Amino acid sequence: MIIESTPYSLQNNINSLKLKSNTIGFVPTMGALHQGHLSLIEASLQKTDKTIVSIFVNPTQFGKNEDFNAYPRNLKEDLMILQKYNIDFLFTPQTQDIYPNGEQPTVQIIEPNLASLYCGVSRPTHFQGVLGVVLRLFNIVQPDKTFLGEKDFQQLTLVKKMVKDLFLPIEIIGCPILREPSGLALSSRNTYLSEKEKAEAATIYQALCFAQKLVSLDEINADKVIDQVTRLIQKESTIQIDYMSIVDSETLAPAQEIKKNDRILFAGYLGKTRLIDNVAL
Ligand code: AMP
Repeated sequence: MIIESTPYSLQNNINSLKLKSNTIGFVPTMGALHQGHLSLIEASLQKTDKTIVSIFVNPTQFGKNEDFNAYPRNLKEDLMILQKYNIDFLFTPQTQDIYPNGEQPTVQIIEPNLASLYCGVSRPTHFQGVLGVVLRLFNIVQPDKTFLGEKDFQQLTLVKKMVKDLFLPIEIIGCPILREPSGLALSSRNTYLSEKEKAEAATIYQALCFAQKLVSLDEINADKVIDQVTRLIQKESTIQIDYMSIVDSETLAPAQEIKKNDRILFAGYLGKTRLIDNVAL
């Protein structure tokens, strides 16, 4: 594993790999690696010749009052974990490497519809920051395939949309959510939670499974499902629901009548910690 922190140097190295007909797999992360990230790396190692992982806590996707400064950063631990994997490059740029003109970039990627729904309501500049950094990383790494988690389902959908709209020659591969035995979706932000809070946070997955059960019992009214699931979360936990929506799994348009493969998306706060999750119905 070669560690690179300079965009042009990584780009040159990858150009050489591509000249030798290697396919390039890319796994972008913000570090504090857990098994969810590692499952993406494993998928890339399996499906491509060379795997590039990036660790970059992207300031532009955090709102002013969000946890950019507190976000867990464990580069030493991440390196130890990554040594066990046969990846080719780890890209660890600094903010000025990605944004040489400062954090208010002059060229921005704006998606005017989906980016303002769901997570975009509470985090109005979040997806602009995400798409901006992902496009920059794509141009540096020039991957053939990129592996993203379904955990961030709206992000996955928006990146797929950007790739299609901008004719980027990249295949986006969505990978399943990895969970703790309790059902709590793995997340770097789980380090903010005490053991007791983690147990409480597992209510989210239980509630989403309850939605699946209602649908399997032929409930197709989205409002009714959301109502019952909301009541379960409110009864069993102190979680403050930010939103819960049942959506089409391709477009993320809200569903009135639930159809096969629709998805229920959830975001909420346990104390100050924002937690997101989703399941297919
Ligand atoms: P992050 O470091 O949080 O930006 O996440 C980097 C990538 O890992 C994103 O594509 C996430 O969707 C994915 N990811 C995060 N948590 C999980 C999880 N529990 N299971 C699968 N993928 C995940």
